Amino acid sequence: MCPHSPTCPSSTAPDAAAARIVAEHLQDSGYALLCNGAVLLEGDGLLRLPERPEPVAA
Ligand SMILES: [Zn+2]
Repeated sequence: MCPHSPTCPSSTAPDAAAARIVAEHLQDSGYALLCNGAVLLEGDGLLRLPERPEPVAA
């Protein structure tokens, strides 16, 4: 859930890297967790995690 306003772009959006950083480990581990669930890697990398699909009723 995104508590920010305006809402952060989703992990699949073209500007996903613009989401707020919620856990920064750039100094020690070289990555930062973004609000949308994507992982920003040191340098230019952005690891996009697929959004969870909607649960499907059986
Ligand atoms: Zn957010």
